[in-house]
Amino acid sequence: MKHNTKNYDYLIVGAGPYGSVFAFEAAKRGKRSLIIERRSTIGGNMASHKEHGINVHDFGAHIFHTDNKEVWEYINQFTEFNGYINQVVADYKGERYNLPFNMNTFYQMWGVKTPEEAHEKIITQKESANITGIPKNLEEQAISLIGTDIYSRLIKGYTEKQWGRKAIDLPPFIIRRLPVRFTYDNNYFNHRYQGIPVDGYTPIFEKMYESDLIDVKLNTDFFESKDAYLTEFPKIIYTGMIDQFFDYKFGELEYRSVRFESETFESNNKQGSAVINYTDSETPYTRIMEWRHFDKKADDGYTILTKEYPQDWDKTKEAYYPINDEKNSSLFKKYKKESRKFENILFGGRLGNYQYYDMDQVISLALKAVKKEFGE
Ligand code: UDP
Repeated sequence: MKHNTKNYDYLIVGAGPYGSVFAFEAAKRGKRSLIIERRSTIGGNMASHKEHGINVHDFGAHIFHTDNKEVWEYINQFTEFNGYINQVVADYKGERYNLPFNMNTFYQMWGVKTPEEAHEKIITQKESANITGIPKNLEEQAISLIGTDIYSRLIKGYTEKQWGRKAIDLPPFIIRRLPVRFTYDNNYFNHRYQGIPVDGYTPIFEKMYESDLIDVKLNTDFFESKDAYLTEFPKIIYTGMIDQFFDYKFGELEYRSVRFESETFESNNKQGSAVINYTDSETPYTRIMEWRHFDKKADDGYTILTKEYPQDWDKTKEAYYPINDEKNSSLFKKYKKESRKFENILFGGRLGNYQYYDMDQVISLALKAVKKEFGE
């Protein structure tokens, strides 16, 4: 069967943000793209749908946040944002704390009221735990940032169930995603721009694909005709798993997966927060989202709650998170090196680059790739 039926300039594998931005920009420059997507939805893990007048994110909560003005202005051409600021409550065995780690958390944990008292508590705990020098793993990094009490109640259990491995076997950078601040400020992010698209994320992608120069084929697995695609298309933007592209020839990279269980209630407010994290090690889920609280204009009458369960990844499951520990990072380097031999294939996105990217980083990288591709 012939795939390049319309003299496409690009085959884009995966309808997530990397490939979609690339296709949109290529179309602006008069180039034709075919996007193929294994799933039945567009937008990759950003996909969303509306249910009972509430925007539900299909693959876990996505809050757009960035310091990159160019990216913020870019995404705003496709949608309006609702001004949502993420605030997360942590539940540790029934006790409630504010996240990220800030003066509210320190007050709730220790009763301290000033930044100075909080600093002192943390330094004392860090010293008693004998943490010195550059942190070698997530546990050392966490204790050196916020001490042992917060580490053991709000981080250790959550992290170990989220990643399915010990905090001492995880890289320090993962915990540095969360702000630590000595003000009474519960904003989960430090970025200047933040929000959720008023109509959810999927309409962004529908808008990106409006051009006649872009075709999208869903339920289409690249690996069912890999050889034909490689021969027929002059250039491929590949955003799937990089190890799968190379038929796992150097070995398999590890990923972490999650699964979701949703329930609908006739109520306007069940948990009083868009997200509550369950940070103990016994509760099998990591967090519960109540979607209507992300969505300032949800219709009245119903609320939908979704529990997020981390799970081991295997080839029958979706790969959500790369595991950027030493073992996997060095394996990834081999694939990366191999990928450079293929000048007409560009590897992008979280899976193509095996990096724990946020949405804004993916968009920024896609825009950079476009500039390079078109010599701008
Ligand atoms: N984390 C934690 N306790 C929490 C929330 C997060 O220990 O209540 C740690 C955990 O290791 C997690 C990391 O911080 O993997 C990053 O959290 P983030 O909310 O950025 O994760 P994501 O939303 O990308 O899954």
